[in-house]
Amino acid sequence: MVHIEEVQFNSRTIIRCDRCPKRIRVGRSDGWNIIYKRGVIIGFLCSQCQTPEENAEAEINEATLDYGVDAFGRAVARPKGAFE
Ligand SMILES: [Zn+2]
Repeated sequence: MVHIEEVQFNSRTIIRCDRCPKRIRVGRSDGWNIIYKRGVIIGFLCSQCQTPEENAEAEINEATLDYGVDAFGRAVARPKGAFE
């Protein structure tokens, strides 16, 4: 069975950066980092607050995870290949 990460918000939910007061809608959060801990989303970082290390980590996540919105309008991240 494929492990699916489900997030408790949809693409119109407004998220806030963990390090500054910046807010953005999930659906427009290009460049923002999702902070994962053991595959669970625990927070967000805007593009200005990311360290180079965090930026590199995000690129690894992007290479290994597919992002999408499921049938219920919720944002989901799954290991690459899970949508096929
Ligand atoms: Zn920030």
